[in-house]
Amino acid sequence: MSNKELEKNEVFVRTFGCQMNVRDSEIISGLLRAAGYKIALTDKEAKIIIFNTCAVRQHAEDRVWSLIGSYKGTKIIGLVGCMAQNYQERAFDRDASVSFVIGPQDIHKLPEVLSKITHHSLLERKVWETQGSIRPEEIYRTGFHQDQAHTQIVISEGCSNFCSYCVVPYVRGPLRHRKFQSIIEEIRSALDSGISRITLLGQNVNAYQDGDLDFTKLLKAVNALNGLEELGFFTSHPKDVHLEFFKAINELDKLTKTLHLPVQSGADRILKLMNRGYTRKDYLAKVTSYRKIVEGGTLTTDIIVGFPTESKDEFEETKALISEVGFNGAYIFKYSPRPNTQASKIVPVILEKEIQKRHLEILNLQRAISNKLKHKHAKK
Ligand code: SAH
Ligand code: SF4
Repeated sequence: MSNKELEKNEVFVRTFGCQMNVRDSEIISGLLRAAGYKIALTDKEAKIIIFNTCAVRQHAEDRVWSLIGSYKGTKIIGLVGCMAQNYQERAFDRDASVSFVIGPQDIHKLPEVLSKITHHSLLERKVWETQGSIRPEEIYRTGFHQDQAHTQIVISEGCSNFCSYCVVPYVRGPLRHRKFQSIIEEIRSALDSGISRITLLGQNVNAYQDGDLDFTKLLKAVNALNGLEELGFFTSHPKDVHLEFFKAINELDKLTKTLHLPVQSGADRILKLMNRGYTRKDYLAKVTSYRKIVEGGTLTTDIIVGFPTESKDEFEETKALISEVGFNGAYIFKYSPRPNTQASKIVPVILEKEIQKRHLEILNLQRAISNKLKHKHAKK
């Protein structure tokens, strides 16, 4: 197939995982559109399928392998994102129909990689790019937005927290902050194009720093922009949230009064093993402070059940914390061992059957709390 012919072909980008990946898929689409490819809305007409993937839990990876298998070699398949970084060239052994593998720090090379594949007209040719460590700033300037009313803006890439269960620092690299001015410029141009709602994105937005400019200052600067109607952010880390930040949430008129503050566990020994950098008491104190300052603010969280060595009592402590705080919503995850992580070396692990039991218990508990809060809210 010649280059010209392939460029006429459509590319379908399928996204898995977090909001960061949703934004990365827009960047991928923008880069490919600029290189002359058409972005397909479904996989039917597309010759090339790009899987922009997640590696946070094994389950997410299994789903992608099964979907890749379902194409039975009828498409050109690209594995992109966190799972690509996790597998690197081993992806070609895992499924021979994969033609290219590109890690999150290398997505700007996508047009070049596709052109390589076509130039050589060797579909069996395998190309992989997983050595990158920085993303060029230009990738944020493609102007591609899936939704004409809302977009997400990346403020920092990677993470250096090394929570012991988490693969993110290994696949997305260390924390890098984008320049304050570049972020503002990207938001300005999104607002100029008619977008009115913005979500600021980072693995830990509260760690944002550019010289003496921190996250609270960024929120204030963005809130002041003309044309902006609503501002949100995702995700906050309990060890880095503080009073000034809560005050900003309360005061800034465009900011949504909601906070996602993943606690992961309610037991101090487990929090320590997780390397989270706070205790149960620290967490509860921050919640109290948030609720005092941000009137009517909602609160959501993430929980991991069945972390290696988690005892029944420690599990009960997590349940008690959930009841005590009364989260408006929570994502409850079953612990999944990830390559390279410290937690994957901890024994004994909790048996799958027990993890499932604990998972269901917390799901039911949280469902009851969420419903009660919704009901209370509706009554007001
Ligand atoms: N940077 C964000 C998001 C990290 S991934 C944060 O720190 O909150 C999103 C959620 O996935 C985490 O909060 C955690 O609850 C869950 N998670 C991460 N690694 C996991 C693993 N190995 N097993 C189960 N859940 C995991
Ligand atoms: Fe993973 Fe922890 Fe970083 Fe979140 S803060 S991405 S859980 S290492």
